[in-house]
Amino acid sequence: MNVVARLKDRWISWRVSRVLKRYLDSVRFQVRDSIVFLHGSAQSYEEFLDIGLKVGSVRGVEGVVNEVEWPGKAPEGRREVAASKALIGDYDVVIIGAGIIGSMIARELSKYEIRVALVDKNPDVAMGVTKANNGIIHSGLEEPLGKIKTKLCVRGNAMYDELARELGVRFKRIGGLWLITLRSMPKLKDKLPMSLYVFMLKYVVPLIVKMKAMVLGVPGVRAIRSIDEVKRLEPHVCDDVVAAIQVPTVGIVEPYELAIALVENAVENGVDTFFETEVLGFEKEDNKVVGVITNRGIIRTKIVINAAGLYADVIAELAGAKEYTIHPRKGTILLFDKRSMKYLSHEVAEIELPRPPRTKGGAINPTVSGNVMWGPTAIEVSSKEDTSTSREDVELLIDKFAKTIPSFKGKLMRIFAGVRPATFNEDFIIRPAKWVKGFIHVAGIQSPGIAAAPAIAKLVINILRHEGIRLVPKKNFKATREPELRFNELPAEKQDELIRRNPEWGNVVCQCELVTEAEVINAIERMKRIGVKTITLDGVKFRTRIMMGNCQGSFCRLRVASIISRHCGIDLWKVSLRGGGSEIGVGDVKVLLQTGVSKSG
Ligand SMILES: Cc1cc2nc3c(=O)[nH]c(=O)nc-3n(C[C@H](O)[C@H](O)[C@H](O)COP(=O)(O)OP(=O)(O)OC[C@H]3O[C@@H](n4cnc5c(N)ncnc54)[C@H](O)[C@@H]3O)c2cc1C
Repeated sequence: MNVVARLKDRWISWRVSRVLKRYLDSVRFQVRDSIVFLHGSAQSYEEFLDIGLKVGSVRGVEGVVNEVEWPGKAPEGRREVAASKALIGDYDVVIIGAGIIGSMIARELSKYEIRVALVDKNPDVAMGVTKANNGIIHSGLEEPLGKIKTKLCVRGNAMYDELARELGVRFKRIGGLWLITLRSMPKLKDKLPMSLYVFMLKYVVPLIVKMKAMVLGVPGVRAIRSIDEVKRLEPHVCDDVVAAIQVPTVGIVEPYELAIALVENAVENGVDTFFETEVLGFEKEDNKVVGVITNRGIIRTKIVINAAGLYADVIAELAGAKEYTIHPRKGTILLFDKRSMKYLSHEVAEIELPRPPRTKGGAINPTVSGNVMWGPTAIEVSSKEDTSTSREDVELLIDKFAKTIPSFKGKLMRIFAGVRPATFNEDFIIRPAKWVKGFIHVAGIQSPGIAAAPAIAKLVINILRHEGIRLVPKKNFKATREPELRFNELPAEKQDELIRRNPEWGNVVCQCELVTEAEVINAIERMKRIGVKTITLDGVKFRTRIMMGNCQGSFCRLRVASIISRHCGIDLWKVSLRGGGSEIGVGDVKVLLQTGVSKSG
């Protein structure tokens, strides 16, 4: 270690001992290459978090490995999955994780003459964090200054028009309208005379936001001080608006639709996929990763990219590169029906100062499919798999957003939660491992991970070049992808023509979203083309919007399961929601019995 690094570690040690003062009786720490390792015991999970976050906030800390114990901590619940010793592939790069990040990197790498494998333990693309979020392509303006995630968000946002055009995915720049209301600075409200408070809200806050936009390079940000203009843009927002900030670069996508399109395009350009392939360890030579050990066999590789979302820390530890701990932060979202779109057209949020810690505060946003979302919340949870929803979370969201659009009377269709893979320094960790060769971390990708993803992929390409991977552009790279046909979006003449050519286009399977049998079959064929072995209901749902309408699958789920059963030649009882263990024959056995569907469907 050089002198500068040693001095930096000493400085970090000094700072950590100061921030952990009240915990030092029970907590020990070591610093190595700007990574802080914490051991000992805390009195509660909240204290464990507080310790990690305090250390993570120290300037210069590049990772916090928090191994402090707390009462009630569940023992490491690793599933016993047997590793196979068979050699199943030999690649230049193996990407672990087919969420938005791994998929974006795979597609970016498919532009070059190298052999790439994309590996995921789930049966399909986007079955992790990527499937449950707001899908907002943030501008970057809400993020704190000085973070990697902020820069990558601004850059990634600017890349979305071209990306969406090439892949034929739905992307809309709806713009953000962030309201400054009398509630925006609660701590100052009672301390200042009302006229001064309103002056601050109308002039000082917009000025600060505009200055931040200039520093970050977020284009087109505008302060609106005329209430009439705010109401012209969004007639239903609350009456106590004082001013607003318009952020035209804010956009929306369906993240799973994008991830699927990325993998389809990557596969067309030569990337191989390995689904239902769980990474269990690594083969190393001279402290360099040379192979990935999975339940299906060993994949030889020159370099590994760790894009494993919530489990990036587990994967890093398996490689001997544990440089951070991921702590899960849950976000609950309310999803409203399509009629709710009459209440707004922008991403609408209320500016809160000071900002709530570790969250942008949530928003009300339309989705590209024409629904409305409220949320998310930001609740620390101890389990990475905790996607439960509670009455308290729902009340929190209603309490907050009902004030923003008081006349909102949308029909609540679904409550769901996603879990953010947060690091203790609250930033993305994108760099080569410090002590192991051939291993790149792309970890801690919480929000704005979707927005930043295109820029993250470009950064990873630069890191690979730096690590000595030769990247020669492919002459025959095909940038575009044929978008799938959506029956309900086609003009009547086109619908007629399709039905005449193939009657399956006329067989409507999902009444709510008007999805036809032909679309379900197309989705199954597309899944097979990218290497999906287990055709799941969720896989078909994310490709067609079946089961996403008002009935949430009550009427169409069994029909789709029957089509999968028939088309793939599997027992109806074995069709699953999202892979092994979620077979419909278990959860919905009653439905099957009631409807009297035979085993063959
Ligand atoms: C409630 C909520 C709202 C959000 N809203 C937004 C938003 O509006 N805009 C935005 O930009 N961002 C948003 N985000 C953040 C965004 O969803 C994430 O940044 C992004 O989805 C992370 O993608 P990923 O590919 O890193 O992770 P994932 O999608 O989780 O992918 C990781 C993959 O790794 C696989 N994996 C894990 N372990 C193994 C193993 N051992 N072997 C093989 N495979 C493995 C998993 O199966 C998974 O598929 C939100 C997040 C949440 C929770």
